[in-house]
Amino acid sequence: MKKLLILGAGTAGTIMANKLAPALNKNEWQITLVDEDDKHYYQPGFLFIPFNIYTKEDVIKAKRDFFPAGIEVEMSAIEQIQPEVNKVKLGNGKVLTYDFLIVATGSKVHPEETEGLKNGAWRQNIFDFYTIEGACALQNFLKYWEGGKMVINIVEMPIKCPVAPLEFSFLADWWFTDQGIRDKVDIQFVTPLPGAFTKPKAAQLLGDFLEKKNIHLVPEFSVGRVESDNNKIVSWDEREIDYDVLVTVPTNMGAQVIANSGMGDDLNFIPTEPHTLKSKKYDNVFVIGDATDLPSSKAGSVAHFQADILYENILRAIDGRKLVGGFDGHANCFIESGFGKGLLIDFNYDVEPLPGKYPLPGVGPFSLLQETKMNHWGKMMFRWVYWNLLLKGSKLPIEAQMAMAGKRQ
Ligand SMILES: Cc1cc2nc3c(=O)[nH]c(=O)nc-3n(C[C@H](O)[C@H](O)[C@H](O)COP(=O)(O)OP(=O)(O)OC[C@H]3O[C@@H](n4cnc5c(N)ncnc54)[C@H](O)[C@@H]3O)c2cc1C
Repeated sequence: MKKLLILGAGTAGTIMANKLAPALNKNEWQITLVDEDDKHYYQPGFLFIPFNIYTKEDVIKAKRDFFPAGIEVEMSAIEQIQPEVNKVKLGNGKVLTYDFLIVATGSKVHPEETEGLKNGAWRQNIFDFYTIEGACALQNFLKYWEGGKMVINIVEMPIKCPVAPLEFSFLADWWFTDQGIRDKVDIQFVTPLPGAFTKPKAAQLLGDFLEKKNIHLVPEFSVGRVESDNNKIVSWDEREIDYDVLVTVPTNMGAQVIANSGMGDDLNFIPTEPHTLKSKKYDNVFVIGDATDLPSSKAGSVAHFQADILYENILRAIDGRKLVGGFDGHANCFIESGFGKGLLIDFNYDVEPLPGKYPLPGVGPFSLLQETKMNHWGKMMFRWVYWNLLLKGSKLPIEAQMAMAGKRQ
């Protein structure tokens, strides 16, 4: 039997297993999927937990419920990839071999990378919402908070779902208004970027949104340390911002196993060919989702678009054919803006988010870069789509490559 090994059964690894299992001849190919955690987290739902919109139960399901029939599953830590000899060492003592490898080990937040961030105040008045534990602790804190200064801070880029901290700020504005304490809360959005977002046109619009909602934007602030005894974040150039509660998006890094295997950059992201998704170094290794070093957004929607191209390229690689360079960096994201409304952005490596309409057969069109109720419902519908269609690798009426139809230049 020839072996296809998939490391990581999160969004991207699960989609790939579901797409490839029916496509490969079961008498010739054995697919093995490895993950250390038996729970699947719907991470976009973490955003809603602090504001009591979702509960923990809404965002967790058993991973196995989403695996296709006929594949091998190893529930174990992955300790080391040895790409020179096509082997992977697992924490349970097994050594797996492969003909082709797909790395889908994702990314995680690392608060310990910033001096002082994880001191005694961690989860007392310093919280993250990028983990289930952080989102639930923040929910509990906000339930009793009577107001003060809330600082929402991105430590450094890249982060997964780069719009999530903005969405958190917009929802905070709505939540405190709803609780009747908005006048007692000062919200500041502190970012290392020159504006509210990575892309200039969207950054301008989202910056205007922050202003309209009386959220103070502090750009170009790169946190060097946190003085949690004094409730202050301090930048590398010694500027200080004080807070009563700090909502942090800590440094995002690829999995530790990537560092253990000598396969990553400084942040453990794997050098990946931007259009084919093949490892830059190894011809039988492919990378998908948050694990890549690509400048595309680290998002579930992106993993889904990448999966269409990677599926084709794995089949081509097996047949010894030339790979297709079909991934264009396409990202598509609803941005919750509070008060039951949202925006939608759609972009790729070359085209920044543009205004206009986003056609979607049977459901759309949605409005691009414009606040509507319909976009809010699109965001809320995404959870159903994620569990029922996206993870299963079903065909969605959205093309992997970005389309210009409906967009205004
Ligand atoms: C707060 C928040 C909001 C978000 N909002 C959105 C949104 O609105 N829209 C959107 O499209 N995306 C959103 N995302 C991003 C999205 O969730 C991720 O980009 C997506 O899940 C990445 O998929 P992945 O498969 O690359 O990684 P993951 O889904 O994280 O999977 C990685 C898997 O690898 C496993 N793994 C890692 N290392 C090891 C090891 N050593 N041994 C064994 N197993 C290992 C992990 O257990 C995990 O199951 C959001 C994320 C967050 C945190």
